[in-house]
Amino acid sequence: MKKNTFLPILFTLTSILQSCEDNTLYFEDAYVIENVNLIDPLEGIEEKQTVVIKENKIHQIYNTAEVILSSKNKIYDGTNQFLIPGLWDAHIHFAFETILGEYMPDLFLSNGITSVRDTGGPIDLVLPYKEYSLKNPTTSPRVMIAGPLIDGKHNVYDGSSPSFPLLSIQNSSVSVLQKQVQELIDKKVDFLKAYEMLSPEQFKLLAQMAQANNLKLTGHVPLSMDVITASNLGLNSMEHLRNIELSMAKDFEALFSERTFALENKNKISGSKLRSSLHQSQRMKAIANIDSIKQDQVFNTLAKNKTWQIPTLELYQTFANKKYKSEAFQSFFYMIPQKVKSKWMEQINSTSDEPDQEMIKYTQWSRDMVYQMHEKRIPFMAGTDTPIGFLIPGKSLHDELVQLNLSGLSNLETLKAATYHPAEYFGLEKNLGRIKVGFEADLVLLDKNPLESIKNTQSIRAVVKAGKFMNRAYIDSLQVN
Ligand SMILES: [Zn+2]
Repeated sequence: MKKNTFLPILFTLTSILQSCEDNTLYFEDAYVIENVNLIDPLEGIEEKQTVVIKENKIHQIYNTAEVILSSKNKIYDGTNQFLIPGLWDAHIHFAFETILGEYMPDLFLSNGITSVRDTGGPIDLVLPYKEYSLKNPTTSPRVMIAGPLIDGKHNVYDGSSPSFPLLSIQNSSVSVLQKQVQELIDKKVDFLKAYEMLSPEQFKLLAQMAQANNLKLTGHVPLSMDVITASNLGLNSMEHLRNIELSMAKDFEALFSERTFALENKNKISGSKLRSSLHQSQRMKAIANIDSIKQDQVFNTLAKNKTWQIPTLELYQTFANKKYKSEAFQSFFYMIPQKVKSKWMEQINSTSDEPDQEMIKYTQWSRDMVYQMHEKRIPFMAGTDTPIGFLIPGKSLHDELVQLNLSGLSNLETLKAATYHPAEYFGLEKNLGRIKVGFEADLVLLDKNPLESIKNTQSIRAVVKAGKFMNRAYIDSLQVN
């Protein structure tokens, strides 16, 4: 035992002695990003800092003026550059496009996305991504998984068409749900995702199971419920603001009883058709008739319960304005495999060029909701839903940041939504999502200041994942097929 403790002390002494000899600092088995501007999502910018990275951690941070580095150090000059924590995409699907799935980890890393939250896919398909990320932290983003969408008797993503691949599990009853959810918990999912066709009884049990196992429950508010009840029962986060409008509508009671009747599904149509028909018949009616008192009640509940929001604004913009029809949008398709590109082009060419006016209205309303909810201090995370909507993994997160920013989040708050907030959501905020000594070395080095323009998150010079420094040439090589 004594021998073991003696050795590290000896090493420490040697390194201090080396430094004292010529008054310079030398860091063994480490590297230094010298004279960089740090942007911490909570504290803002700190200019001219020197950051030492050792193994997978931020080892030391100094004022550049206060240290003299030995020339023996491995040094990257960060002068006039900006260092931010590694980004999260808090809403992705590895399983939506299985061929693309394998390319997604590299695409994320090359775009500065060092952590992702997979919000739905068959457990046997998404679990290997998580396991790979744990074994290979320097060559994969951190992967947090929900497993499949937990849906009701008429599940939406049932594998019946390319638009609705099998992402969910069907639960014909409360007892079936209990058994299937327990299996997911046993497989160590990181959170659970409720879907739209759940019955209130199923949702209630799911929320209880999530709570008992200390797991976050995210999802879409089930069509059979209102958002206040769902949030109070334990829906900790909401994707796409889905089904929030119903609870704010002046004629909530009428819409809700119409919905309850439709959900009996007497004509036995598929879950996806039933869901679409309800969205189509009720969504625009509801947002045209918002009751400000009801809206306040919803906001107050979400704020009180700290119900996280992942509004996926870029996804809505893309569908509403048919952005995928443009050459500018398609110019990024070089990043994806040819087979997927051909399939996407076929799908894109089969849709009309006309912007979707209803969707445009809904998108504007969503952006306004984001602004108002943010004012009420309801917390946000940046997520895209990639590759749904032909959104390129990694690249699309930067577009979502622009949307959040346009909705009224300041540049620093926007960065927070893609760094500190997702870390906090998973209880990792003491080790991840900031630039502090002892924190995980997941970082993005930028050429331009994102506090001046949020678009500058795209000026990526290098990415650091679990301490591994990847320069521009390296990350470019991750994008070429
Ligand atoms: Zn999704």
